[in-house]
Amino acid sequence: MQLRIPGPTPCPPEALRALSKQMINHRGKEFGKLLNLITARLKQVFQTTEDVFLLTCSGTGGLEAAIVNTLSPGDKVLSISNGFFGDRFAEIAEQYGAKVSRLAIEWGKPVDPEAVAKALKADKGIKAVLATHNESSTGLTNNIREISAVVKELDKLLLVDAVSSLGSIDLPVDLWRCDVVVTASQKGWMVPPGLAMVSVSKNGWQAYSEAKMPRYYFDFGKAKNYLERGQTPWTPAVSVCYALDATLDLMLSEGLTNIFARHARVAQIAREGIKSMGLSLFPQEDHASNTVTAANAADKINASKLIQILRDEYDVVIAGGQQKLSGKIFRIGHLGFVYEKDIKLVLEALSQALPKAMSS
Ligand SMILES: *Cc1c(COP(=O)(O)O)cnc(C)c1O
Repeated sequence: MQLRIPGPTPCPPEALRALSKQMINHRGKEFGKLLNLITARLKQVFQTTEDVFLLTCSGTGGLEAAIVNTLSPGDKVLSISNGFFGDRFAEIAEQYGAKVSRLAIEWGKPVDPEAVAKALKADKGIKAVLATHNESSTGLTNNIREISAVVKELDKLLLVDAVSSLGSIDLPVDLWRCDVVVTASQKGWMVPPGLAMVSVSKNGWQAYSEAKMPRYYFDFGKAKNYLERGQTPWTPAVSVCYALDATLDLMLSEGLTNIFARHARVAQIAREGIKSMGLSLFPQEDHASNTVTAANAADKINASKLIQILRDEYDVVIAGGQQKLSGKIFRIGHLGFVYEKDIKLVLEALSQALPKAMSS
């Protein structure tokens, strides 16, 4: 089967083998060694020397952790959103009592750093900015480097959803001065769902020391204290840790530059293939994502029928549109364990399925 959705993504054999290992004591020496090894290599992929923690949850738990550990009820926050996941990040902040102002950008269009600067200058009381690196709902990558330059010039905290980009698309966390960055195991990391990984900068810790939002399970302070003893505060997803240990080996032996280049090549093939079938890309092409390709379902194409035919007749699983894009686009995930041959197979199946998916 070709599982080509923006997560969960396929696991390589090394990860599958690791998943079948027997349990160990998560408060024992053996797990401590594993956790320290994983953390050290995660820092390399995050390109950070700051703290990185494993949280046992999906990506959304990581986003919630980013909010509750840095903010207090009543804090003003600027949410930059051009998609479904950007909106989710804002909703979490709102739910915990932040005063969220929204810089809403048309879905499929990139964030304009000038607009961010304007929004921040218009309200000096804003404390933090929420941004999405790779908007999986629209297949678009925002320019975090440029956004960060603006946010940091005005000395605000920058919280980044990099769930579907970190480890697949370059995001040098320290260089781009991102304060809290969130990713999740089932995306580019080639392991099952179950872990979120988050980095916390010095400014992030400063914010933590003042933050008053309620939190218990997702407390960065507890995570830090326990990590010093080679533990996590709560029972971790031990098997996912085994698998991540294996895929981090694969990732670091391939090398970050090579991983990013492979994702760029695979995405390029996806985009060219889509266009050669007479279809158009949903996002503005110069910001098209290297991990998710979103295509407009042409007038005559029934997107849900197309997805069903691909699944039933070709064993290829792709995703539809979310929320207001439901029925309007389809999305191909190509992150993590994916090579040129995989995307070519998907495109071949797509070209055969398209004529069968006309709406009647
Ligand atoms: C997958 C994803 C999430 C998190 O989703 P979970 O289902 O909670 O793991 C958040 N943001 C983006 C951009 C994603 O792609």
